[in-house]
Amino acid sequence: MRTVRRSFRQWSFWPALASTTVVVAAAVLALAAALLPGLTEVDVPVADPGPAPERPAPVPAGARVLFDGTAERLRANWMTADAQAPRWQVQDGVLTVEPGGGSIYTRDVFGDVELHVEFATPFPRGGRGFHGQGRGNSGVFFFCDRYEVQILDSYENPTYFAGGAGSIYRQSAPAVNASRPPGQWQTYDILFEAPVLARGPDGRVQVESPGSLSVRHNGILVQDRVPLRGKTTCKLAPAWELHGPAGRIQLQDHGSRVRFRNIWVRPR
Ligand code: MG
Repeated sequence: MRTVRRSFRQWSFWPALASTTVVVAAAVLALAAALLPGLTEVDVPVADPGPAPERPAPVPAGARVLFDGTAERLRANWMTADAQAPRWQVQDGVLTVEPGGGSIYTRDVFGDVELHVEFATPFPRGGRGFHGQGRGNSGVFFFCDRYEVQILDSYENPTYFAGGAGSIYRQSAPAVNASRPPGQWQTYDILFEAPVLARGPDGRVQVESPGSLSVRHNGILVQDRVPLRGKTTCKLAPAWELHGPAGRIQLQDHGSRVRFRNIWVRPR
């Protein structure tokens, strides 16, 4: 009995328990990071894209203008999810997201396209909640709500994996962060290759081609023919959702007054 007590004191139970707990916790965290890489932030190198263009970029021949600064063009080409006229504001040639007004969708459907979008994120309000995803936030989606190229004010604003500007949302972080500060005009030139999906004999979605996205952010290549892995959701294991050969393009209402100008599309 005396021996046991002595060894108990020598073993020094509480420090041993504490260090064991630390080791187990570290192992659990390492395992979680390995299994769930999307939960960990990655450092995306910053690339200076140079000064913002003063004017909208010229529209190439063969492109179809989806927004040219006029309310007429907005109404002709875009609608809400329930097929109503967009509730976003057009003023001085600029289209601004109306928070709560809902996302807007092209009236026409598209397959493989080149898409040019100019946008500017709003100046962040200070305080808690206005960092990360709380900064100016929107998105360009293909096939309604399936494949998103994230729009975020990523200027000196780290966020979670593949959640920032130029990301294929939650699937692929951009090669570099080419963001300009909020308030300045920025461009996305996106090459979208539509996934080819079919219903398999077992009823599941069969992927004949995953499609791909390439993105130039302010002229800098940040995504280079990256295959899609399914619908872009915050889930870490994206799933495919069946669709046909063409779908609507969406600009997202994510509750911030992101501005747009000069949007054109060229089918490929
Ligand atoms: Mg978004």
